[in-house]
Amino acid sequence: MRGRIVKVSGPLVIAEGMGDVKMFDVVRVSDKRLIGEVIELRGDRASIQVYEETAGLGPGEPVESTGSPLSVELGPGLIEAIYDGIQRPLTYIRDIAGDRIPRGIEVPILDREKKWNFEPRVNIGDRVEPGDIIGVVQETTVVEHRIMVPEGVEGLVDWVHEGEATIVDPVLKVKTDEGQIVDVIMLQKTPVRIGRPYKQKLSPVVPMLTGQRVIDTFFPVAKGGVAAVPGPFGSGKTVVQHQLAKWADADIIVYVGCGERGNEMTDVLMEFPQLKDPKSGEALMKRTVLIANTSDMPVAAREASIYTGITIAEYFRDMGYSVAIMADSTSRWAEALREMSGRLEEMPGEEGYPAYLSSRLAEFYERAGRVICSGQDDREGAITAIGAVSPPGGDISEPVTQSTLRIVKVFWGLDASLAYRRHFPAVNWLLSYSLYTDRLSDWMKKEVATDWDQIRLELMGILQEEADLEEIVRLVGVDALSLKDRLTLETARSIREDYLHQNAFHEVDTYTSMDKQYKMTKLILAFHHGALKALEAGAEFSEIINLPIRERIGRAKYVPGDQLHVLDEIMTDLQQQMRSLAQEGGIQYA
Ligand code: ADP
Repeated sequence: MRGRIVKVSGPLVIAEGMGDVKMFDVVRVSDKRLIGEVIELRGDRASIQVYEETAGLGPGEPVESTGSPLSVELGPGLIEAIYDGIQRPLTYIRDIAGDRIPRGIEVPILDREKKWNFEPRVNIGDRVEPGDIIGVVQETTVVEHRIMVPEGVEGLVDWVHEGEATIVDPVLKVKTDEGQIVDVIMLQKTPVRIGRPYKQKLSPVVPMLTGQRVIDTFFPVAKGGVAAVPGPFGSGKTVVQHQLAKWADADIIVYVGCGERGNEMTDVLMEFPQLKDPKSGEALMKRTVLIANTSDMPVAAREASIYTGITIAEYFRDMGYSVAIMADSTSRWAEALREMSGRLEEMPGEEGYPAYLSSRLAEFYERAGRVICSGQDDREGAITAIGAVSPPGGDISEPVTQSTLRIVKVFWGLDASLAYRRHFPAVNWLLSYSLYTDRLSDWMKKEVATDWDQIRLELMGILQEEADLEEIVRLVGVDALSLKDRLTLETARSIREDYLHQNAFHEVDTYTSMDKQYKMTKLILAFHHGALKALEAGAEFSEIINLPIRERIGRAKYVPGDQLHVLDEIMTDLQQQMRSLAQEGGIQYA
């Protein structure tokens, strides 16, 4: 099936004679065989989004359909790979062709020669259906790649392989109910624009803990949840993302870089492979798939990249893993959408973005979730999606941020002014929110502490009160405040400095377990309550706030995770000091 180009407009090519193609079919454009995808069909005219530079193309050149939709290859070899938006292996291409990707290059996405050690998990005579795990391959030192029965294959195991195999060698033969023998190989192909099947969606009631106190305590994200983080330049967005990649309790990380200004994407390509996985001590790449669009790549490839990313994430979810996907930044992705829409001469919506911006964003985030996977063993998998947004000028009223906020349930608002004051992570506690806290409440009560909700609410209440009091202080000065209010300001400062402030580069401070978060918050509140009592009993304000115990509360964050008894000791001493203060003032400290 061959058509002809009639018009070229940047990444958009219009071709006629395309009556037989289907929406989202992949086509090869011109003799250079550039990769494109059909994004609009009118009669026999197709609008094609071309993923490579179209300079030099002209009317009359041939367009050939491949007859299949834009798909990704899935199988052993994905982990540690760095792909572009349409899953071309960047590292491999760089090795064979240098820094710039030559047009029309055809390279295997997954290595077809490499041998993997296949360990079967089924026996001859077992009944298998799509999604069942038939065997495993130790892909990297930390990831066990589980090989699943592909869609459409069902029956009895007739033969199963054991030992070395490439991804295209048969590892299983299935006898279908009709008596046919079907070969199963490790390599699978899945279209990227529709989600991979699963059995059932579960509600997000388990947190994806990150070890970052401001996130876990105040704005937690659920496993299978969706979060957005807008990042004005210099607000610590990169550090937050690296911290999440390192510490979030996810088995697999998929990082989609949609191309920041200038060289930023190349920074990610340089930086990410340097990161160490704190849990295994190995490189973080050993459980990561990177998708990157460097700035010299055409915009259209950006548009595809988040679909490529989420499809790979779904594949690992289907194995029963908890996957975190980070898209950075969805603003660049939306700009690609806007550019294509403009060239298609569609009716523009707000700020030139197409009217379907919101629904496209929703389609992406909807593919996150905690699910029961396909297959007979009812295993659970989850995708947690975190999208970075980079609103121009930090203005969150613009369409991409607004559409995103309507979809996501967690918003970590990075604040340039906090970053300027070197308060990191610069998550603004007054602007940010998490709509999961209620649903996570049971888990937190059971796994952390029964009073966790009260603690969280009380801490946040003090921070909100601080914001109100600061307004008064600005108008009439701190002396106008009651001692109780001044204490509230002191406690709020302690929450900010001793608790929320967290140094990503400090060996201990970089990660805080929930146990430690609980003990730390208890200390801060115990001081607050004790001090209130002491004040009522007539103790001196200055004496209370200068108690030596406060210094130790401030250093609690540096207590290593295996020495949490130190925090209990601080608590004992705190109560003692408070008791004697109150006694001086004349009341009995309960
Ligand atoms: P952005 O990506 O938003 O431009 P970065 O993530 O590169 O900003 O952060 C800028 C700088 O802020 C970092 O180089 C680092 O010095 C500091 N920083 C950000 N987050 C933290 C953190 N959690 N702990 C310590 N320093 C941080």
